[in-house]
Amino acid sequence: NLQDKLNGAFKTLKGKGRITDVNIASTVKEIRRALMDADVNYKVAKDVTDRVKQKAIDRKVMIAVEPGQLFVKIVQEELQELMGGMTQTVNFKGSPAVILIAGLQGSGKTTFSGKFASYLKKQGKQVMLVACDVYRPAAITQLQVLGEQIGVDVFAEPENKDAVSIARNGLAAAKAKGKSIVIVDTAGRLAVDEVMMTEVENIKKAITPSEILFVVDSMTGQDAVNTAKTFNERLNFDGVVLTKLDGDSRGGAALSIRTVVEKPIKFMSTGEKMEDLDVFHPDRMASRILGMGDVISLVERAQQAFDEDEAKKLNKKMRENNFDLNDFLGQLQQIKKMGNIKDVMGMIPGMGAAVKDVDISNDSFKPIESIIQSMTPKERQLPDIIDGNRRKRIASGAGRSIQEVNNLLKQFEQMKKMMKKFNKMSPGGKMKMFG
Ligand code: GDP
Ligand code: MG
Repeated sequence: NLQDKLNGAFKTLKGKGRITDVNIASTVKEIRRALMDADVNYKVAKDVTDRVKQKAIDRKVMIAVEPGQLFVKIVQEELQELMGGMTQTVNFKGSPAVILIAGLQGSGKTTFSGKFASYLKKQGKQVMLVACDVYRPAAITQLQVLGEQIGVDVFAEPENKDAVSIARNGLAAAKAKGKSIVIVDTAGRLAVDEVMMTEVENIKKAITPSEILFVVDSMTGQDAVNTAKTFNERLNFDGVVLTKLDGDSRGGAALSIRTVVEKPIKFMSTGEKMEDLDVFHPDRMASRILGMGDVISLVERAQQAFDEDEAKKLNKKMRENNFDLNDFLGQLQQIKKMGNIKDVMGMIPGMGAAVKDVDISNDSFKPIESIIQSMTPKERQLPDIIDGNRRKRIASGAGRSIQEVNNLLKQFEQMKKMMKKFNKMSPGGKMKMFG
C-alpha cells in the first residue's frame, strides 16, 4: 500500500547521511509513483511532488541537520494540504438542524448515520434518525436496530413508499418532539442513476438541510472520485465521509477527492461498530499515511473510553517521553475496552506496520501482561535497569521465555523512540491541542 511504498522511499533517504540533488530527484520520483500506485490522479500526484521538490530545495534539505526528517515533514505538509488543510466542522443551523446523508448503496450511509447520531448524542444533543430508504425492505429495520442500540429515536413509515414525504414527516415529528438534530438516511443504488439522483434532490428541496454529507467507500478506488463528482454536481454537498478505512483501502482516491470536487473530507469510518467513527483530521491522516502512527487520535479515543484526567496524564507523559511500562500495561488494559484493538494499536507510532497482518485478540496481550506484572514497580518505571538476571527472574515468574521478555523490552524501547521522533516533528503544536 501507499504507506509501505512511501516508507520504502524514505528509507532510501534516511539511510543516507547526506542528501544530494540527485537523491532528492529520485526520492520525489518514487513518491510520485507511490501516490499513483495508490490511485491518486496523475495530475494531483504530479502537483504534490512538484511542490515537495521545490520546498525541499527552498528549505535547503540538503544541509539540514536531519535531512530525512525535514523531507518527511515537507511531504506530510503537502499531503495534509491536499486533504484539506484544517479540520472541518459540520454546520448545524436551524432548529432542528437537518443533516442529509447521500451516497451509493453499500457505501456505509446507514452505518454512518447511526455512528454520527451516537457521536452527537454523547455530546448531549437530542437526535432523531429518519429512515428514507424505501427500496430495500431490510433498510428500515437496519436503522431501527441501530437506533435501539445507541438509544436514539428513529422515524420510519414502513407503508409509505414516497421518500420525500417520509423526510418531510420525519422533520415535522422531530420538531414536535423538540429534537435539535435530524439525520436523514437515504437510499442508494449500485451505480449512479437518474431516479436516485432526482429523489435525493427532491428530498433536499423538501427539507433544506444545513449540511449534506456524501458517504463514499474508500475501497472503490478511482470510482470513488467519479461518484463524488456526479453527486456533487447534483447535490452540491458540504462534506465527504470516507468509510471502510479499516479495510485494504488503497487510500489514494481519498487524496484525490478533495482536489477534484473541492469539498473537504469531514469524517472517517474505520469499522462496523458504532464507536468506529473519527472526525477527519488532515494532519493526522497525513501522519498516518507516512507511517508515523496517530498518537493524537489514540489519545482522543482513549479519552472517550476512560477518565479525561487519565488521558491528560498520558498525553503529557507521551509528550515528555516519560511513558513507562506501568503506563504501557495500563494502556493495554484500557485498549481492550476501546473496541477494535488492531485499529487502536495501529495508531501507536511504529505499530501500524507491525500489526498489519497480525491476528490480534484480547488474549494476544496475555503474555505481555504477565511479563510486565512479574516486574517490580521500579523495573516498570525504569526498564533500563532490567539486566540479564532480572530478565531471567521475570521470565520464570511470568512463565514466559527470556526471548519473549527481551522482545517486549525491545519493542517498548522502539515505541518510545517513535514517540520521541513524533513529538519532535510536531513542535509544540499538535500534541498540545488536548493539554
Ligand atoms: P448503505 O447501503 O450506504 O446504507 O450502507 P450500510 O451502512 O448498510 O453499510 C454496508 C456494509 O458496509 C455493512 O455491512 C456495514 O456493516 C459495512 N460498513 C459500513 N461502514 C464500514 C466501515 O467503516 N468499515 C467496515 N469494515 N465496514 C463498514
Ligand atoms: Mg442504508
